[in-house]
Amino acid sequence: MTACSADELAQLALYVQAHDLPVFWLGGGTNVLASDAGLRGLVVANACHGLSVDADGLVIAQSGMPLRELAAWAVGAGWAGLEWAVGIPGTVGGAVVGNAGAYGGCMAENILWVRILEGTEPRRRNLEDLQYGYRTSVLKREPWQVRRRIVLEAALQLRSGDPRVLAKVAAENSAQREARTPAGPSAGSVFKRTVQFPAGFLIEQAGLKGHRMGGAQISDKHANFIINVGGATAADVRALIELVQERVWTAFGLQLEPEIEYVGEWS
Ligand SMILES: Cc1cc2nc3c(=O)[nH]c(=O)nc-3n(C[C@H](O)[C@H](O)[C@H](O)COP(=O)(O)OP(=O)(O)OC[C@H]3O[C@@H](n4cnc5c(N)ncnc54)[C@H](O)[C@@H]3O)c2cc1C
Repeated sequence: MTACSADELAQLALYVQAHDLPVFWLGGGTNVLASDAGLRGLVVANACHGLSVDADGLVIAQSGMPLRELAAWAVGAGWAGLEWAVGIPGTVGGAVVGNAGAYGGCMAENILWVRILEGTEPRRRNLEDLQYGYRTSVLKREPWQVRRRIVLEAALQLRSGDPRVLAKVAAENSAQREARTPAGPSAGSVFKRTVQFPAGFLIEQAGLKGHRMGGAQISDKHANFIINVGGATAADVRALIELVQERVWTAFGLQLEPEIEYVGEWS
């Protein structure tokens, strides 16, 4: 099902609660690995678009809005603070949940407050309530099977800036992203960086660049990406993820923690 407004999200939340249905609240689906068996229950896609801005740069964005659309708009309109987000796929809601970030910026640095449907009640939560960490939040730490808090909209504080300067920074970030991102379907960075090392470096040092299982392959270009090179199943991808964890642990004694989330039914 697709929700096109905060009201529709609220109605669906009410329905799910009344019927005690399993539910997955989907953003852009760019940070999840859905099982081959699929998901028993309701999947709600979020198409709640739209934004408003006041004279002081307080932007309120609906949770289904694509983050890169929001970032491109901000750059063009001369509002500074989201140049890091140009090129990140997914929705504002997904970025709020996972504290998306790149090039030294992240959601936690922009958020003033977020409106969240908790059960069936919309509530405003401040930055500190979200308990942000590197690519995580209080929302992300809650397994998707029991998550009953849905991000409706996010209020971001931006600053006035020169559109030409912002466009230059955004273009540099985009060029870097293009140079480093492998072509082909993927779920982005598979693992979080460890305290000492980027995950891609460890995977490369473990000799796994280009390693393939079924249709899933560790990218030759960036070892923290797993690409579907043709007919990959979710099981292929997960098996490759587990192999990487095992090899990196054996070689370096470091535990790689997935950034992506497994959803659906896994045996
Ligand atoms: C090529 C590529 C490049 C990427 N580069 C980056 C990068 O540079 N930096 C980065 O941080 N990430 C990156 N990612 C990962 C991903 O794009 C981000 O994590 C993104 O913020 C996920 O948003 P989404 O809408 O797709 O979330 P989804 O994958 O749809 O969902 C992720 C989780 O958030 C939950 N969720 C989504 N919306 C809501 C909501 N409204 N309310 C409650 N829960 C919700 C879902 O239930 C799920 O648990 C990349 C991915 C790809 C494929």
